[in-house]
Amino acid sequence: MFYNDHMTYLLRVNLDINDKNIADSVRFKAALNSIRFVSKANNKVVILSHKGRPQGVDSRLSLKSSATFLSKALRKNVIFINHFDFAKIAKQIKQSPNGKVFLLENLRFIPGEAKASKNLAKSLAKLGDRFINDDFPTSHRKNASNFELPKLIPSSIGPNFKMELRQLSKLMANPRKPLVLIIGGAKISDKLGVLKNFIRKADNILLGGAPANTLLKARGVNIGKSLYDKKVLAQIKPFVNNEKIVTPMDWKIGNNAILDIGPHSIGLYTAAIKEAGTVVWNGPMGKFEHKSFSTGTKALYKAILAQKRANILIGGGDTLAAISPLGKPGKNTFVSSGGGAMLTYLSGEKLPALDAIR
Ligand code: ADP
Ligand code: MG
Repeated sequence: MFYNDHMTYLLRVNLDINDKNIADSVRFKAALNSIRFVSKANNKVVILSHKGRPQGVDSRLSLKSSATFLSKALRKNVIFINHFDFAKIAKQIKQSPNGKVFLLENLRFIPGEAKASKNLAKSLAKLGDRFINDDFPTSHRKNASNFELPKLIPSSIGPNFKMELRQLSKLMANPRKPLVLIIGGAKISDKLGVLKNFIRKADNILLGGAPANTLLKARGVNIGKSLYDKKVLAQIKPFVNNEKIVTPMDWKIGNNAILDIGPHSIGLYTAAIKEAGTVVWNGPMGKFEHKSFSTGTKALYKAILAQKRANILIGGGDTLAAISPLGKPGKNTFVSSGGGAMLTYLSGEKLPALDAIR
């Protein structure tokens, strides 16, 4: 596709990044790449994105600072639009000269985004001629801007999205065994939802974070006030006694909650990494933002850095934020911008945002 053609492109990228380490974030680099790819002197670009999981308007999750970071990195003013008066926005875009780049405020401030509202998609569609989805990390979700919008105007996926699909499918077509899958973090239903598909492919599934807590709970362990998901308990029932699924044998506790895996679990998990032919990792092992609960995550990454033989795949916003201060991964590692999306795609399930385009 040529982008040099007097059209207005709606471009979805992923700016769900903590400002603190935005500059060396994989997602930020991917966003810059997408914008450079699409934006030309003879067209206009309207960037669509989100940040966090706001319940309505929440100034802490505004994309205003992202516009500043993007402007600086692109050496080009990215015009931030801080309201959702769509008639006014359409007028502003129409009256602007070619070559301009706009960024809309966090779309998740509008309840219709997460609910895949057709009306919201219609309002968005009126802002441009074509839609390019280059936001792989959100592609496992049905949102207005990635699932309904592409049904309304000519749409395609962007360069980063394509690259992710190519790399991930290459690695999973014929993975070297043993395949070790490591799942941690907090978004339990996203992460445990893939278990039924992965259970055949993976040789071992090592759990940390809230997915581990949920499994431990299902296995009858007293987990105190640990973060877990009641709704997922029924869904994971068939796997509770599956020998491939490994839960921590010890842990670190804070405020009566499990907040990191313990030393014996670290020993077991790092040994599995050492023996692996393929490692797929999404989700920190603990509440890594607090130094005292970052030990498990750090130890796993250290074992991954020492593993020169296996193919390694690491993904997820928080996972990447946790490991990025600890050094660059080796050539045998592919870093995916997606967490839940990566797991969904690798498990063989469909990505709704991709299906909506095809
Ligand atoms: P990713 O973005 O890599 O896909 P998630 O968003 O699912 O990962 O989860 C990251 C979050 O999980 C972090 O904020 C971390 O503090 C939290 N977390 C990990 N383990 C625990 C735990 N045991 N209890 C509470 N929170 C946890
Ligand atoms: Mg996250």
